[in-house]
Amino acid sequence: MVSRVIPVDPFDLVVIGGTGDLARRKILPALYRRFCAGQVPDDAQIIGAARTAMDDAGYRDFVGAALDEFAGAAGCEDRARFLSIIGYVTLDVLGDAGWTELAGRLGQDRVQAFYFSVGPSLFGPIAERLQTYGMAGPDTRIVVEKPFGRDLTSARALNTDLARHFDEGQIYRIDHYLGKETVQNLMAIRFGNMLFEPLWNSQYVDHIQITVAETVGVEGRGEYYERAGAMRDMVQNHLMQLLCLIAMEPPSKFDPDAVRDEKLKVIRALDPIAPEDVVRGQYLADGDRPGFREHVGNAESTTESFIALKVRISNWRWAGTPIYLRTGKRLRARTSEIDVVFKDTPHSIFGPEAGRHRNILTIRLQPNEGIDLGVTIKEPGPGGMRLVDVPLDMTFAQALGPDAKDVPDAYERLIMDVVRGNQTLFMRGDEVEAAWAWTDPVIAGWEEAGTAPIPYDTGSAGPEESLALMHRDGRRWREIRA
Ligand code: NAD
Repeated sequence: MVSRVIPVDPFDLVVIGGTGDLARRKILPALYRRFCAGQVPDDAQIIGAARTAMDDAGYRDFVGAALDEFAGAAGCEDRARFLSIIGYVTLDVLGDAGWTELAGRLGQDRVQAFYFSVGPSLFGPIAERLQTYGMAGPDTRIVVEKPFGRDLTSARALNTDLARHFDEGQIYRIDHYLGKETVQNLMAIRFGNMLFEPLWNSQYVDHIQITVAETVGVEGRGEYYERAGAMRDMVQNHLMQLLCLIAMEPPSKFDPDAVRDEKLKVIRALDPIAPEDVVRGQYLADGDRPGFREHVGNAESTTESFIALKVRISNWRWAGTPIYLRTGKRLRARTSEIDVVFKDTPHSIFGPEAGRHRNILTIRLQPNEGIDLGVTIKEPGPGGMRLVDVPLDMTFAQALGPDAKDVPDAYERLIMDVVRGNQTLFMRGDEVEAAWAWTDPVIAGWEEAGTAPIPYDTGSAGPEESLALMHRDGRRWREIRA
């Protein structure tokens, strides 16, 4: 039921940066799993390209090791067949070595996609060389990774660099959150059911919470993270995308530009954030585990590893319904969820002793992808009308049975969408710029004020002040729990 596989047309996919961490952990295992599922044809070609000198056989060993480590239990009998479609070209992105060889390896009359699995400073040079060496045809697709810039100016510059060689319809900006099953289910739930949409507005929704909590710190990525912080690393892209999908108007159809037009309208309707509506934090050391400042190697770091924000959307649907966003590292549990908290009933026929009960629709991205709806019922048994809230749980693993394990992960789905030429789940250039245009003044606000992030304990829910952000509005964050 879930794993209906529609094979894609033959393609050449070049992973530039094919020896990097992302290629090893995500891209190659994702391709392998799709191959095992029967979606990748035998005459497809996957070519790694990077600076390290290696031949095809060497790269196949490298890929085999990456699969051992990261492909999990997934797999198929014939791993050798998968490895046989893998090749490698040693190539310098900033020079001319290797490009002619790469061009010579590509097949004719088939989809050609180039995955830029390198830092953004290399996007422009790669696009230029693809053009110079005759690989930027009208049907070529390019995939670029986050971070797409670090502010509006740099994002615009990247868009301009790419636009010199490729049309917008050829550029696939990845936000892997959009590839998650539940995120797409969010659209199915909203626009495939009559039940929710009439209630999906400020008349019925009290507020919405979006939490992306991690238990890990920034170990190993300290240098990058010190320059980015949670606002740039998580809010500008992942949380913003979730916010758009939850708040957008129904698109006229499920097509890339119709969906992305609606998302863009949400970003453009966001109010500027007042300084009192932002709480930033930094995790402290915990026993032997270093704190944030040690991880980033800066004893005076003012970068945040946690951020909570109260966001307002100025449009008819959402005026008066705030959206609270929060994300951070070294928190109590690893969890990502969206909670749509509905208003109280206008009048309780059960009297004050029945307590306060609210419907909450929870969309869980991880762990246990699924959706649950908290409904109020009578507590069973004699002794009067006592009310309790119980979940109508739609954990996919339960609802879909054994098929649920075959749900492809985000990278699998997104890479296959590139091959199929479907941009719906990728960010458009104007969307990314609009997100930065909203983000930049928030960052400038705290930089001008010179405020430092507030320390918080590992295993907590972030600084106490983030709880106060809700309390002062008479609301509470949902518990962070695995
Ligand atoms: P990495 O440093 O591990 O790998 C970089 C790759 O680029 C290597 O294969 C390297 O050989 C190649 N490379 C660098 N300079 C080159 C040059 N001049 N010529 C040819 N090849 C060159 O980086 P990564 O972690 O794989 O990340 C790649 C991109 O993906 C980055 O933009 C990163 O921000 C983004 N990203 C990574 C992750 C992740 O989990 N690693 C997650 C999201 C986004």
